[in-house]
Amino acid sequence: MTAFPEGTVLGYPRIGRRRELKKAVEAFWAGRIDEAELERTAAELRAATRERLAAQGLGENDSAIPESFSYYDQVLDAAVTVGAIPARFEDLRAEDGTIGLPAYFTIARGEGDRAPLEMTKWFDTNYHYLVPEIGPETVFSLSSDRIVRQVQEAADAGFRTRPVVVGPVTFLALAKAADEAPEGFDPLSRLDDLVPVYAELLGALKAAGAEWVQLDEPALVSESLPASVAELGAAAARAYAVLGGLAERPAIFVAAPYAALDANLSVLAAAPIEAIGLDLVRGTVPAAVPGLADKVLVGGVIDGHNIWRGDLAAAFDTLEVLRGLGAAGVSASTSTSLQHVPHDVEDESKLDARLVSWLAFADQKVAQITTLARGLAEGRAAIGAELDAASAALADRLSAPGVRVDAVRARTAALTEADFTRGDYDARVAAQSIALDLPALPLTTIGSFPQTGEIRRARAQFTKGEITAEEYDGFLRDEIGRVVALQEELGLDVLVHGEPERNDMVQYFAENLDGFDVTENGWVQSYGSRATRPSILWGDVSRPAPITVAWSQYAQSLTAKPMKGMLTGPVTILAWSFVRDDQPLAETANQVALALRDEIADLEAAGIGVIQVDEPALRELLPLKKADQPAYLDWSVASFRLSTAGAEIATQVHTHLCYSEFGVVIDAIRALDADVTSIEAARSRMEVVTDIAAAGFDHGIGPGVYDIHSPRVPETAEVETLLRRAVAEIPTRQLWVNPDCGLKTRGYEETNASLRNIVEATRRVREDVSVAV
Ligand code: GLN
Ligand code: ZN
Repeated sequence: MTAFPEGTVLGYPRIGRRRELKKAVEAFWAGRIDEAELERTAAELRAATRERLAAQGLGENDSAIPESFSYYDQVLDAAVTVGAIPARFEDLRAEDGTIGLPAYFTIARGEGDRAPLEMTKWFDTNYHYLVPEIGPETVFSLSSDRIVRQVQEAADAGFRTRPVVVGPVTFLALAKAADEAPEGFDPLSRLDDLVPVYAELLGALKAAGAEWVQLDEPALVSESLPASVAELGAAAARAYAVLGGLAERPAIFVAAPYAALDANLSVLAAAPIEAIGLDLVRGTVPAAVPGLADKVLVGGVIDGHNIWRGDLAAAFDTLEVLRGLGAAGVSASTSTSLQHVPHDVEDESKLDARLVSWLAFADQKVAQITTLARGLAEGRAAIGAELDAASAALADRLSAPGVRVDAVRARTAALTEADFTRGDYDARVAAQSIALDLPALPLTTIGSFPQTGEIRRARAQFTKGEITAEEYDGFLRDEIGRVVALQEELGLDVLVHGEPERNDMVQYFAENLDGFDVTENGWVQSYGSRATRPSILWGDVSRPAPITVAWSQYAQSLTAKPMKGMLTGPVTILAWSFVRDDQPLAETANQVALALRDEIADLEAAGIGVIQVDEPALRELLPLKKADQPAYLDWSVASFRLSTAGAEIATQVHTHLCYSEFGVVIDAIRALDADVTSIEAARSRMEVVTDIAAAGFDHGIGPGVYDIHSPRVPETAEVETLLRRAVAEIPTRQLWVNPDCGLKTRGYEETNASLRNIVEATRRVREDVSVAV
C-alpha cells in the first residue's frame, strides 16, 4: 500500500473558474454542441484542475489530487455508476446495459411525462443532490465506467489521482423508496446487494491505477436522516468489512465530512480500511478508540464551507493533537469538499485589498493545506512565517472599520420580547380578509418571473456603463409592466413584480446593505448547471436606504389586485452568504432582521398590503446533530419574527420555504407565525400535505403544484390531481395555489403554459369547493 499523501482536499470545484462547465452543459442541452464537444470541454476542465492543484503544491503522483469531477451531481454519478435508476428510465440504457451521458441528463432533468429524480439539500449546505429511488426490485450492476475512465485519463496525463465516490451507506441513506416499493420499505435494506457492485468498481479503479479511493460517507455523522446513527453505523460495519476484505482494491479512505463522527468513529476505526477523514472544523479531535491507531487520520482542519482565511496556527495545533492519537499517519485536509467555495480569490479585482487579505477561496485553501502538510513533515518552524501571516490577518480583521458599528450594536442590545411578537392570528385573518378580499384557493407565484437573456443583457450593459441608470430603470419598469399585465391576463389573485432588478435574491440585498461585499467570479454550484455567487458578510449590517420600495410601489400602481412585496429573510441571507465567523450567527441575524423590519415599515407606508419574506434556507442550516438543533431553531425563528413582527395586522405576511420535508421543521414553521407559507410539494407529488394535516397546521399554506426545477410543463389534469389531494387533506380556507418556487430559471414559453394549466386546474377545483368555503 502506498502512503496517504501528507496533504489533500476532499474535493474541488468542478464548474470551472468562469463556469465553463455550466456553459458547455447548457449548450449541449440546447443542441448547440454535440456530446463529443461537451466531453472535450469537460476533459479540458479536469486537466486544468489537475494542473492547478499541482501548481498549488498537491502531489502529482501520490493520490493527493481528488478525482471529483461531476457533470451534474455526485449522488447521480453514484446512482448511474451502480445502475440504480428508476424503472421509468430503464429504456434509456444502451444495448450493453450502460447508461450514457444523454440518459444521465434525462434522469436529472426529466423529459415529457417522465419526472426527474427529486432534488434536495446536501447535508447542511446549499448544494442540492438528486435523490436516488430504490425499491426491492432495483437491480444493481456496474452501468457506467466514467470514474474509471477519468482515473485513466489522469494517468495518461502523468497524474495519479484519487477517485472520489459517494459511499454505499450514504448512497442508500439518502435514497427514497421507489414508487412501486411496498409501504415502509427502507432502501438501506438493499445494502448487501449494492456492496458487490462497489467491490467491482473498486477492482476496476485499482486496475486503472488508483492507489487510493475516497468513499464519502457523510451520512455517518448525521442525526437528521431517516436511519438512526446506530443503523447507519451497523450498515457501515457490514459494507466496509466486505470492501476492506477484497484482495484487489485501492487503499480505502472513508471521509466523514459536515460534523463529528461521534459514535460511528468506533465503527470506522474497527473496519478494515486504511484512512479516516474527520471534520475538525465542525467537530473536535476525538478520544482514542480501538483500531484508530492503525489508521491514517485525515484531519479536516481547513473549512470547506467558508471563505475566511482563518486561524492557520490553530489548525496546525489541531493536527498535532491528532498526531498524538498515535495514528499510522496524519494528513492535513479540508473539512469538506471545496465544491462549496469559489475557485480563486485572485479572480476578484474589485474587492478591497484589506478584505482580500482575510479571505481564502479554493485555491488559497489548497495552498494552506500544502503549508500545513509541510509543517507536518518538517516541523512547525518550517511554516512559522505562514502561520504568523495568517494570525496577523485575523487580528487586522477584528479591528478594521465597519466590523463593529456602535449604532448597530446598540439597537440589537435594546431589543425586548415585544419586538418579536405580532398581533393575534384571528384578528389578523379578519383584518386581512377585509383588506384583500380574495377568492377560495387564491392563486399566486413565489416572486420571480423568468430572467430572460434580455434582462441579463440589460443588467450587464448597465454594470459596464453602456446604458444609463435612467435607461436601465426604464427597461425594468417596462419588464414589470409586462409581468403585471401577464398575471392579470392569466387571472392570478395576488400579483408580484417579478424581481427583474435582482440578479440573485440574496446578493441583491447584500448589494444594498452595509456590512456586505459581493464578488465578480465567486460562483458556487447550487445544483446541476446552476451556480450562485454568495456575498461576503464581513461587518455589522445596516440599511442605508429603502431597497425594494420603489419597485413594489410602481408595480402596485399598475394594478388593482394586491401586489406582494418581496424580501429575503435573515436566515436565508445568512445561509447563502459567506458569513463572518467572529460572532454568533444569532447576533448577525438580528442585525439583518432589523434592516428588513425597516423595509417592511416603508413598504406598508407605500401602500403594499402583502409582504413575503422568503426563508428557503431555514431547513438547510438545521444542524445535523440533535443537541445543536434547539438553539439554532431559537435564533433562526426569532430573527424571522423580529423582521416581520412590526407589520400591521391587516398586512398579510407570507413566507416561502424551498423543500418538502415539512415534518422535520414543522414546529419552527409554525413558530414563524407567517400568515401564509408556500412550500415545495410538486416534485414529491404532494406527499407533504399529509404531514401538514397531521401536524394540525392552521395558518395559510400553499403546497407547490408546479416543479420549477424541471423544464416540463405540468398538464392541467396533473395539477388538478395534486390540488385535489391537498383539498382532501387540508381545510380549503387555508389553501393557496402556487408553483414550488420562483420562476426565474424557466423560460416564458414553459412559464405561460404552466401557469395557464394551473389557473385552469384551480378553476375546476374551485367549482367543487366553493360551497365549502
Ligand atoms: N422570491 C424568490 C423567487 O421567486 C424565492 C426564491 C427561492 O425560494 N429560492 O425567486
Ligand atoms: Zn423556493
